[in-house]
Amino acid sequence: MLDRNQLAKIKETAFENNIPIMVDATAEYLQEMIRKNKVHHVLEIGSAVGYSAIMMCEEEDVTVTTIEKDEGRYLEAVRNVEKMHLQERIHLLHEDALEVELNELYDLIFIDAAKAQNKKFFERFSKNLKPNGVIVTDNMKFHGLVDQKLNEIESKNLRQMIRKIHDYISFLQNHPDYVTEFLDIGDGLAVSHRK
Ligand code: SAH
Ligand code: MG
Repeated sequence: MLDRNQLAKIKETAFENNIPIMVDATAEYLQEMIRKNKVHHVLEIGSAVGYSAIMMCEEEDVTVTTIEKDEGRYLEAVRNVEKMHLQERIHLLHEDALEVELNELYDLIFIDAAKAQNKKFFERFSKNLKPNGVIVTDNMKFHGLVDQKLNEIESKNLRQMIRKIHDYISFLQNHPDYVTEFLDIGDGLAVSHRK
C-alpha cells in the first residue's frame, strides 16, 4: 500500500508549483488496468515530479522506468520516490526521450510528455512494447481544447499544438499494427493495443 499521507503532500506541492500531474480518474484507470492486465514493467515518458510513476506502483510487483528531461523536475522526482521508499521499483532517467535508447520490453508504455511529440514517442518506443502490451497516451483532449473549433482559438502556438493532437489521433486511427480506443477519462486517454 502506498503511504497516503506522503502521497497527499506530493500532490499538494505539485499543485502549488503548477506541475501538470494526472487527475485522480486517470490514476485510478491506470491502477485498474495494471491489475487486470497483470502489468509488471511500465515505461513512462514524462515523469514530472514522479507522481504518476508512484501511483502506478500501487500493485507490489510493478516496476516503472520513467524519463524526464527537466533537471529540476527530475531531482524532485528523485526526492519524492525516496520519500515513498520506492527507489527499488522506480528507475528515474534524466534524459530526453527523443534521444535515449532503451532495450528492455514493457507491458505498458505511458506517454505523458510534450504533446506535440506524441507521434515521435509512439514510433520510438513501439519496439520496446511486449507482444501483448498496451500504449496509453494522456491529455488527448488537451484541457478540452481539442474539441474546440480552430478558428475560435486565438493563440497561434495553441492552434499548432491542437493540429498536432488531431494529427496524432488520425495517426492512431490509421495505424496498421494497433487498435486504439479513445476514452473520456480525465483529460482524455488513447489506449492502443497491438493487433
Ligand atoms: N506524468 C506526470 C506528468 C508529466 S508532465 C504525472 O502525471 O505526474 C510532462 C513532463 O514531460 C514534463 O515534466 C516535461 O519536462 C517532460 N518532457 C517533455 N518532453 C520530454 C522529452 N522529450 N523527454 C523527457 N521528458 C519530457
Ligand atoms: Mg498528463
